[in-house]
Amino acid sequence: MLEQWEPVIGLEIHVQLATRSKLFSAAPTAFGAAPNSQVAWLDAGLPGTLPVVNSAAVRMAVQFGLAIGGSVARRSVFARKNYFYPDLPKGYQISQYELPIVSGGELAFHRENGDAAMLLLERAHLEEDAGKSIHEGLSGNTGVDLNRAGVPLLEVVTRPCLGSAADAAMALKRLHALVRHLGICDGNLEQGSFRCDANVSVRQRGDDDLYTRVEIKNINSFRFVQRAIEFEFERQVHRRVNGEHIVQETRLYDPDRDETRSMRGKEEAEDYRYFPDPDLLPVVLEDAEIEAIRAKMPELPDAIRRRYEGLGIAPADALVLADEPQLVRFVDQTLEALETEVEARLVSNWILVELQGALRKRELTMAQSPVTPSGLAGLLSRLADGSISSKIAKQVFEALLNEEGESADAIIESRGLKQITDSSAIEAEVAAVVANNPDQVAQYRAGQTKVFNFFVGKVMAATRGKANPDLVRDLLQARLNSDDG
Ligand code: ADP
Ligand code: MG
Repeated sequence: MLEQWEPVIGLEIHVQLATRSKLFSAAPTAFGAAPNSQVAWLDAGLPGTLPVVNSAAVRMAVQFGLAIGGSVARRSVFARKNYFYPDLPKGYQISQYELPIVSGGELAFHRENGDAAMLLLERAHLEEDAGKSIHEGLSGNTGVDLNRAGVPLLEVVTRPCLGSAADAAMALKRLHALVRHLGICDGNLEQGSFRCDANVSVRQRGDDDLYTRVEIKNINSFRFVQRAIEFEFERQVHRRVNGEHIVQETRLYDPDRDETRSMRGKEEAEDYRYFPDPDLLPVVLEDAEIEAIRAKMPELPDAIRRRYEGLGIAPADALVLADEPQLVRFVDQTLEALETEVEARLVSNWILVELQGALRKRELTMAQSPVTPSGLAGLLSRLADGSISSKIAKQVFEALLNEEGESADAIIESRGLKQITDSSAIEAEVAAVVANNPDQVAQYRAGQTKVFNFFVGKVMAATRGKANPDLVRDLLQARLNSDDG
C-alpha cells in the first residue's frame, strides 16, 4: 500500500548566526551562561528601548544568499510577528515577512544511492530567537531564561521539493555543511544552533498537487528528521486510505517513542498580525557592499569536493571530507606540508581511517588532534620515498599520537626505524634464515611454495620490520631458487 504513495517535504531551518552580540542589542550570545545573565533591556521587553540592527548578522545572511545563488534583496524590511508567550516579553518577535533578505537559490546534494539532486530554496530571512522556559529543578514552577532572546537566526525555508525522508536528511546535512564552511553558524545541533522543522504531506505517486501538511517542530538530529518524516508519512497514508482527513497542525517528534504527537493547531499568518516594525529602518544594501562580501567568500563544499576528486581522492571520500570544515583544513594543510610527491588518495586514507579512528578511540575532536598536519605530512613523505615501510609507518603514527610535537623524522631517527634498503645488510639475514631452517628449505624446493611466507616473516622479524619487504622477497627468491645455501 505505501508504495503507491509518496511524502512531500519542505524544511524550515533555524540557523543560529555566530555573531558575538544579539540581533538588535549589544548583549552577548555565548551558550551556557547563567540564566538571564546575557539580557539587554530590549530583549527583556522594557518599553522605550530601541533596536539597532547587528551588521555582522546582515553580512552573514548575504553570504548565505550568495552561496546558494539566491537573490539578495537591496532592501529588506523587519516586521513584528505578534504572539504571546512567557519567553517573549515584548509580545512580538522581530522577523522579516514580506521582504526577506534572501529569495530563491538552490543547493546540490547527493541521494543515499549517490545520485545528484537539488534542494530548492524559497527564502531566507533574519529574525530574533525567543527565550527559553525552564522546568527542571523548579518543583512545579516554570522559569524563564532570556539569554537566548534576541540571538540572531537565519530562517531558511525550502520549497516542498523533497520526496523522501532520506533525501530530506541528506539535503539537511549539506545545508549544515554549508553554513559551517561559511563560518556563519557553529552547527551545534545539541545546543540548538541548527534546528529543523519538517513540513510533511502525502500524495499518490503520479499526482502533482499539494495536500494538507503537518509541521513537525524543532527536530535536533539528522536521524530524527528522517525518522519523524517516515513516521508521519505512514500515519498520513493510513488516515488517507481510511478516508480520514489530515488536520493541518503542529506536531512534536518524540524520539523515545519514535512517533509524532499533536501539539497545537497550525496558526495562520493573519493570526500573527505582521506589520513592519516602526522602530527599525529597512535594511538597504549597496551593490558595492554585496560585491565586497562576494569577494571574501570562502571555497564552498561543492567546489572542495570537486577539487579533491580532481586530485584523485575517491568520490565517496571527497564527499565526506568536503562536508567537514575541520577535515578540509587538515587535508589542505597536510597536502601543503608534504616534502615529496605523495598521492592525495593516500593522504585522505590516512586522515579518514588512521587519524579519525585514533581520535575516536581517544574521544578527541579533530581540533584536539595530537597529530598535526605537518606531523602527518612528514610521516607520509617518508613512507612515499621508501624510508619506512607501511607497517613501520603505523608505529611512527602511534608515536606521533603519543608524543605531541615530535616530528616523524625525529621519531624514525631516535628509534632507528629507517627501512633497510641496503641489500647486502638484508642478504646477510636472508642467508642466515635459509641456513637455519633446512626443513622448510627442503619443503620449498619440493614444491610447497606456500612456505615462502615463512621465510619472509623470519627475515622481517630478524630486522624488526625494517627491511624493505620487496627486497626481502627478491633476495629470498634468488637464494631459495639457486643451489647454494
Ligand atoms: P507558513 O507561512 O505557514 O510557514 P509556508 O508557505 O512558508 O507556510 O511554507 C512553510 C514550509 O512548508 C515550506 O518549507 C514549504 O516548502 C512547506 N510546504 C508548504 N506546503 C506544503 C505541502 N503541501 N506539503 C509539504 N510541505 C509543504
Ligand atoms: Mg513558516
